Amino acid sequence: MTHDLEQLIKDWDGQAVLSHFDAPSGTWIFVAIHDLSLGAGCGGCRMKVYPTPAEGLRDAMRLARGMTHKWAAIDFDFGGGKTVLAVPRPLEGEEREGVFRRLGRVLNTLNGSYSTGQDLGTTPEDMQILSEETKWVHTGDEAHGGKVDPGPYTALGVLTCLRTVARMLWGNDDLEGRRILIQGVGGVGLPLVKHLVDAKADVILSDINASRVEAVAQELGARTVPNNAVPDTDCDILSPCAIGGTLNKETIARLRCRAVAGSANNQLEEDADADRLHERGILYAPDYVVNAGGAIAFGMMARGMGGEEAIRDRIWAIGTSLEEILFEAGERNQSPLKAAARKVEEVLARHGSPHAAVSAGDAS
Ligand code: NAD
Repeated sequence: MTHDLEQLIKDWDGQAVLSHFDAPSGTWIFVAIHDLSLGAGCGGCRMKVYPTPAEGLRDAMRLARGMTHKWAAIDFDFGGGKTVLAVPRPLEGEEREGVFRRLGRVLNTLNGSYSTGQDLGTTPEDMQILSEETKWVHTGDEAHGGKVDPGPYTALGVLTCLRTVARMLWGNDDLEGRRILIQGVGGVGLPLVKHLVDAKADVILSDINASRVEAVAQELGARTVPNNAVPDTDCDILSPCAIGGTLNKETIARLRCRAVAGSANNQLEEDADADRLHERGILYAPDYVVNAGGAIAFGMMARGMGGEEAIRDRIWAIGTSLEEILFEAGERNQSPLKAAARKVEEVLARHGSPHAAVSAGDAS
């Protein structure tokens, strides 16, 4: 294991890794700072049981790199970083609280060069405890009742991207009557559906949670399709808002849509799937661009960068970033994933980043 950690750190192209073993809980704390060329690092705090601590570090490094790409793709002045708490078992109560208190003291040593927020496996309550030890965390301010759910912000970003896609395909961003299939009506999918119903889109819903999707469909007057029928369903835009890996060789061959734009992380099973979509004439909006809304909101709140209106304006600008990417992809007759990677490189190069020549990867 020691060797694994050594090797991972030797092989990593990021700027720094802060590691701390939290003896009282047996938790490894990893803060991976990938690239601060654009600005101070910003990325969530993930808590998970990994097979080995090295797997936790590997995840922190991969996710931190992904955050560098996410910020660069939307040309936002934050750097890539991520925290992973590799816990030996699920932690509750005082034991859990203690980890976040000690993490707060660890983050203070970075003196603001990195700030964090909620991510997979962590809760608003965890962030609240963290905030009692460090100011470099976003918990939710009074205006948000002390808690912030990133889902609606991410949904707003997806909405602006759906409008951008419509503009690219049909010459205007009016979604009225456009058939949009949303896969997953959870934290992001549900507020997105509401926006789309308001925009008079023809909404189709799918979710593995049958009772949930039926209830939402009934309330909002939408249709549903079973989960296994999603790739075969006729629609204008497919919006994956559930899990990753739903776009692969097999499903792409079945798709009956003009475009794909949704919040789910790592929608493509492999990068070659972007080319497969391109060859089929299906416009793919890269997931790590489309789903940046929640990260933007947390980042701006953590740094006190304006109120709700400023945050919403900045999220709305994701659509402009996507438009540039889709336009360039069209000009070069290439997949938008390649155009997004080029944009990442161009933005990083403009900021003198050592990672300018590295192509974009996944982000959360
Ligand atoms: P969520 O857990 O709140 O909701 C996911 C929904 O998808 C649930 O209703 C679930 O029943 C459904 N689902 C799960 N597996 C499914 C499957 N195989 N097929 C169809 N439906 C399925 O999650 P969320 O916060 O809405 O996030 C959705 C996706 O967007 C995830 O991939 C997440 O990583 C990504 N994302 C979310 C945010 C955010 O702000 N919440 C930000 C960036 C990316």
